[in-house]
Amino acid sequence: MKPVIALVGRPNVGKSTLFNRLTKSRDAIVADFAGLTRDRHYGDGRLGDREFIVIDTGGFEPDSSTGIVKEMAKQTRQAVAEADAVIFVLDIRTGLAGQDMDIGRYLRQCNKRVFVAVNKAEGMSDSPLMAEFHELGMGEPHPVSSAHGQGIRSLLEAVLDSFDEGRATDDDVAFDGDAPDEEGDEPRAIRLAVAGRPNVGKSTLINTWLGEERLVAFDMPGTTRDAISVDFERNGQKFKLIDTAGLRRKGKVFEAIEKFSVVKTLQAISDANVVLLLIDATQGVTDQDAHIAGYVLDSGRAVVVAINKWDAIDSYQRETIERQITTRLAFLRFAPILQISALKRQGLGPLWKALADSYSSAYKKMTTPVLTRLVHEAVEHQQPKRAGLSRPKLRYAHQGGMNPPIVVIHGNALEGVSDVYKRYLEGRIRDHYKLVGTPLRIEMRSSK
Ligand code: GDP
Ligand code: GDP
Repeated sequence: MKPVIALVGRPNVGKSTLFNRLTKSRDAIVADFAGLTRDRHYGDGRLGDREFIVIDTGGFEPDSSTGIVKEMAKQTRQAVAEADAVIFVLDIRTGLAGQDMDIGRYLRQCNKRVFVAVNKAEGMSDSPLMAEFHELGMGEPHPVSSAHGQGIRSLLEAVLDSFDEGRATDDDVAFDGDAPDEEGDEPRAIRLAVAGRPNVGKSTLINTWLGEERLVAFDMPGTTRDAISVDFERNGQKFKLIDTAGLRRKGKVFEAIEKFSVVKTLQAISDANVVLLLIDATQGVTDQDAHIAGYVLDSGRAVVVAINKWDAIDSYQRETIERQITTRLAFLRFAPILQISALKRQGLGPLWKALADSYSSAYKKMTTPVLTRLVHEAVEHQQPKRAGLSRPKLRYAHQGGMNPPIVVIHGNALEGVSDVYKRYLEGRIRDHYKLVGTPLRIEMRSSK
């Protein structure tokens, strides 16, 4: 499971700048459940092949007890509680402030690994000003410049190495018996995550599934970090239901727990092959649904969208929500969209089929001769536009990965291929292989 790193510090030290530097991506999911003005932000980061989740918090002022300040302190406490490690961000230009000492005191009680990052230190890594930060007594301070990207790698290495140390022993005691998937090989069981806001019907659906007699469920005890996973079989297809955010297992049934965990959602999605995104028909498509959907898209996982509680809405509402789906979730155009009722057990047959189809699409094997022929036919039908002096030449294509499938196209002057043309190619490849429910990535590789 991806480790979680929280960024903590008083306002203006550069947490958001560091967050953007670490995640290099748009925010994954904004935790707007509490309706706060300053929220926690979650994003994905990667250093080499090591992946992690970063949480950014909106400042922290533990001693004040009024309004927004108190809320921000609460946000920070929650972020620290969710995290495996904390990066305590400070500002070399202001030096240690009283607030920093307060935060330091708080962090010392938390029993989390804390790494001290002294920000805005561009060109100042050997400065005597660094000495002051030893006073915190929280280990060697790391001089960094979030704005200029200095010192970030060595800070991250220190943080990530600390996880690796722990992991070696963790694996020995708590290996869940499911060998990691071989690169490129279709895993035996579909790793399925059910994602969605609180109350969309996740636990109802899962209990309905697990309660069906035709479905053989195997009891799996929780493994590391309270992870829940349940293996079951349906129509001869094995599924592994991944620890699902916002749910707790109570005996044989799942129940919704009050608190939605963004971290669990992110981890479940990145751990899955296929994500089932549930939308509540009675609520329409909310911002939070769109955030989760955007994250699923970025993850490259296969995805099926199910609009639940279809039984509870009238025909006018049905039209409205279908319109909302096509506009607000337009970027998931490739995903099958189904109408279901977990409560009334309606639409579940087609749902199983959609999940299995998306999975096999995600692991579709595409051979070089067929891909190359498809690309040539596409070019014959419609040439890419000239870019400057040269016209891009698409020569051959091969498959570069699965889940999501990646098609690598080789040729000359491919930098000039427009996004529109890439989408055209994607469409033709999708049609040929009848891909549903999976993103398809097209990469261009020019030889000089
Ligand atoms: P936050 O309130 O802790 O999230 O801080 P921000 O990320 O919003 O940054 C506060 C200010 O510090 C902004 O004006 C940033 O441009 C600036 N800043 C952030 N990182 C650096 C840095 O590495 N060097 C310098 N000189 N300025 C920085
Ligand atoms: P979770 O928080 O996503 O796990 O949501 P729950 O499974 O706890 O469901 C939240 C509420 O929605 C409960 O009161 C369920 O009975 C109700 N619900 C779930 N699925 C359906 C459905 O298909 N139709 C209707 N009408 N209500 C449903």
